[in-house]
Amino acid sequence: MNKRITSTTLYEQALDVIVGGVNSPSRSFKAVGGGAPVFMKKAEGAYFYDEDGNRYIDYLAAFGPVILGHAHPAVTQAIQETAIDGILYGAPTSKEVEFATMLRDAIPSMEQIRFVNSGTEAVMTTIRLTRAYTGRNKILKFAGCYHGHSDLVLVAAGSGPSTLGIPDSAGIPTSISQEVITVPYNDIPALKGALAKWGDQIAGVLVEPLVGNFGIVPPAPQFLEQVNELVHQAGGLVIYDEVITAFRFHYGGIQNLYGVEPDLTALGKIIGGGLPIGAYGGRRDIMDKVAPMGPMYQAGTMAGNPLSISAGIACIRELSKEGTYQQLDEMGARLEEGIRSSADKHGVQIMLNRFGGALTVYFTDQEVFDYDTAQTSDSEQFGKFFRLMLEQGIYLAASKYEAWFLTTAHTDQDIAETLKAVDISFSKMESH
Ligand code: PMP
Repeated sequence: MNKRITSTTLYEQALDVIVGGVNSPSRSFKAVGGGAPVFMKKAEGAYFYDEDGNRYIDYLAAFGPVILGHAHPAVTQAIQETAIDGILYGAPTSKEVEFATMLRDAIPSMEQIRFVNSGTEAVMTTIRLTRAYTGRNKILKFAGCYHGHSDLVLVAAGSGPSTLGIPDSAGIPTSISQEVITVPYNDIPALKGALAKWGDQIAGVLVEPLVGNFGIVPPAPQFLEQVNELVHQAGGLVIYDEVITAFRFHYGGIQNLYGVEPDLTALGKIIGGGLPIGAYGGRRDIMDKVAPMGPMYQAGTMAGNPLSISAGIACIRELSKEGTYQQLDEMGARLEEGIRSSADKHGVQIMLNRFGGALTVYFTDQEVFDYDTAQTSDSEQFGKFFRLMLEQGIYLAASKYEAWFLTTAHTDQDIAETLKAVDISFSKMESH
């Protein structure tokens, strides 16, 4: 591995002109002991190439979207062909209709859809919509779930904010945070308690149906069914934030895998094929409240732009191919098995949560089923592991709360190389 001299120089320059040197806090190495993050020059398939000539096997997948690997020919071609015809119209196109139809076919609870530009926007708008529809103000969310950076959902958020030790963001008035109730994930008694107290004021309950933001944490049996039943009894609406999960584990959402339908769904990440996108949608009678049909305003200059839509169509079409998710699951299983056996061999205490082609390694002896248990993962040990892997050319997210994401570009050889690096890392962690 070459010394990352160029990365260090670029980081110094970046620190002067870009706040914190990065354009999103999770890209900094603050949660793994600090220092210069790796500046990337190129990415292709499962690999990153940095500015100093090093190659890495990438398990970040850009925090989820890059499920086909980098620079996938189908996506690249769609972007190139579309760009020639103009990249932004501000007028409708046939591609938007085609893509909305594809998404609705895959996720039928999204009877009507609106495209936006990010997951943050999608979730933010579903919240406004639940308020517009119910005439209520309060929102309930689950501790540690991350739903973007809009005011209402930065209360007890996971992912970036918790990693950086900011449980709550500055700049959010208490008049807003007071409208947000937070209960632990997978905790039905706590949900019942909150609904008993505030049920008639709650407009919507926001949930990651399978958590990706304090690592991969699946819902407990009947959790999603009970959320639906209890929230509907109280007269509120259920919003699924499937920004990470949609098309990650299956052609559709987690809602289709578990057979439980929310009233509204927020999408992002994968559905843009790597370009900026978000989408929200749901029951027609609720979506009727959105302008220009109804009184709830939401708009976007870039929304539904031809490039994002074309890249999204190309990506989703690739994912619909037979065997995609089986391949991701099999690779995930192989990674899981190898990581577990190395941990056993070297006496490193881990808990591993995996769902299909995504997994999280927690350095703890506690089973992880909510944010509190996820927090027991040892940050120092994770930091050590992260650095050892990086020096062997394996790029993981720089946070103990993130997932490893497999892509269809990863090969058996990549998995073998990764497991070798895991084994060496654990052997070094054992001896220190
Ligand atoms: N919801 C979830 C579940 C997410 O994981 C994220 C981003 N990590 C968001 C919303 C926000 O999406 P974006 O970063 O595109 O605004």
